[in-house]
Amino acid sequence: MSEVLKIENLSYVYPKSSKKALDSLNFSVEKGEIIGIIGPNGSGKTTLIKAISGLVEYEGSIKLFGKEIKSIPRTELAKKIGVMAQEFSPIYDARAIDIVEMGRTPYTNLFGDLSDLDKTYVDFAFKALNIAHLRERMFYSLSGGERQIVYAAKVFAQSPEIFLLDEATVHLDIGNAQHLLLKMKERAINGATVIATFHDINQASVFSDRIIVMKSGKIYSMGEPEEVITRKMIKEVYNATCEIVKGPSNVVNVLMTLDTMLVNR
Ligand code: ADP
Ligand code: MG
Repeated sequence: MSEVLKIENLSYVYPKSSKKALDSLNFSVEKGEIIGIIGPNGSGKTTLIKAISGLVEYEGSIKLFGKEIKSIPRTELAKKIGVMAQEFSPIYDARAIDIVEMGRTPYTNLFGDLSDLDKTYVDFAFKALNIAHLRERMFYSLSGGERQIVYAAKVFAQSPEIFLLDEATVHLDIGNAQHLLLKMKERAINGATVIATFHDINQASVFSDRIIVMKSGKIYSMGEPEEVITRKMIKEVYNATCEIVKGPSNVVNVLMTLDTMLVNR
């Protein structure tokens, strides 16, 4: 296995904030791995994705294939890393096809002309995500879930070596979420590396090779899903009570409990 990403003593404080959004993180990621990142609201998941995307002036080190991210020119970085941010709101409305074609921007000339190869990637993305019927629709006429799939197709068309996904399935129904995650797994089998934050712990559990649990900007725990997803973690990190059950293929699942005895906890 070869190391794709190595993060050492990564910290970040937002301007005008006194709290560390990321606090001394250390981990590395191998080629082809699927890393799930979970943690409660405000624990630093999005900030971590932004840092790896090269969008914030972090302290410490983030090395991509041995090179410090800060020193990699943006166009070169865009060929390696594809980001699905938590929010995607283009300034101008555009057709789905225009949005997906934007995924090829790192490869086109100044005028944005698409080569035959670029068009092949765009067609592949529409097919892979089953959205041929949305091709000519205006982005802002789509539902939240449809927008999210079109946005995913843009990142698919980009075909990066590393996918950074920030709550990529949050607006999707179970069928579309499963389809997107399966397609991402297929990319990983073909050598891509995936780092994905999840709101839904069970989706992280079924999808990830390893999970990183964030709490207050720090890594609380890291390991295979069955190692990290425990009642103790859910209590200490999310302040929630639950039962952990093993589902099909031994995937651990979290079942929220709603015992009225807990109403005044
Ligand atoms: P998560 O994605 O896990 O919900 P974030 O990474 O968005 O968490 O946020 C981590 C911490 O950084 C939170 O305390 C949040 O309030 C803070 N934060 C996020 N964005 C900003 C910002 N633009 N300015 C100041 N603080 C921010
Ligand atoms: Mg977030």
